[in-house]
Amino acid sequence: MRRLGVHTSISGGLPESLRRARELGATAMQMFSHNPRGWAMRALSDAEAGEFRRLKRELGIRPVVIHASYLVNLTSAEGEIREKSIRMLKEELARGDAIGADYVVLHAGYQIGREEGGARPVLIKAIKTALAGRRGDTGLLIENTAGVSVGEVARIAKEAGTAGICLDTCHAWAAGYDVGAPEGLALLKKEIGAAWDLKRVRVIHLNDSRGTIGSGWDRHDHIGKGKIGLEGMREFLAFKPFSDVPLILETPKDNPGDDRRNLETVRKLLAGTR
Ligand SMILES: [Zn+2]
Ligand SMILES: [Zn+2]
Repeated sequence: MRRLGVHTSISGGLPESLRRARELGATAMQMFSHNPRGWAMRALSDAEAGEFRRLKRELGIRPVVIHASYLVNLTSAEGEIREKSIRMLKEELARGDAIGADYVVLHAGYQIGREEGGARPVLIKAIKTALAGRRGDTGLLIENTAGVSVGEVARIAKEAGTAGICLDTCHAWAAGYDVGAPEGLALLKKEIGAAWDLKRVRVIHLNDSRGTIGSGWDRHDHIGKGKIGLEGMREFLAFKPFSDVPLILETPKDNPGDDRRNLETVRKLLAGTR
């Protein structure tokens, strides 16, 4: 069975996110390791980390993914922000090690105003600095964003020495890839394969998109309700090269039951592809 999960809240403590995932019948999950919109990080106690590890094993939820803070901006023009960002990324990885998370996912964003060519070496160097001397098991994945090509993300992830790539369907769509059609999927395969290796796609963020293809607009939608649509999602899920990659939804939580409905939609689509 393909692993499927959703981003869950850590309100009440990190282990609560695992319990929420379990209640939804998820076999994988993602969370933040702290409030993603502030630089301050609440200390993580050994007891909380230990409980998380125990519960993860007991529930068999895998992978557990930490989404790095939105404040992490490794290519900021401001040196102080870059330093703080590297420190925070290191801390996200250390937290991952402490709780036994499988991956930390980081957006491969370039700050507006920086050319790809100029920001790329800055980004790679910063990621290498954050990874230097690491002993823990949590792997870093680089996620494609609406403004960067997927091939470029694969090259950065490889050159920086990370564990792999997290492919977000909404972001790829916003960047101009038709993830719901054979030609778009073939292009993804070609670009990732040319830059690195398809097997390096370790996690998929399965999201529909409110924006049109190529719009550069990063707005997630419910599975099947956005511009990629139900048929597009079906096509994506049936794409063989990714058929073993765990799926994590980052769909909107507008109304109670949204997570449950989105997961159910994906389960039905997956059942149809077998
Ligand atoms: Zn994502
Ligand atoms: Zn997004």
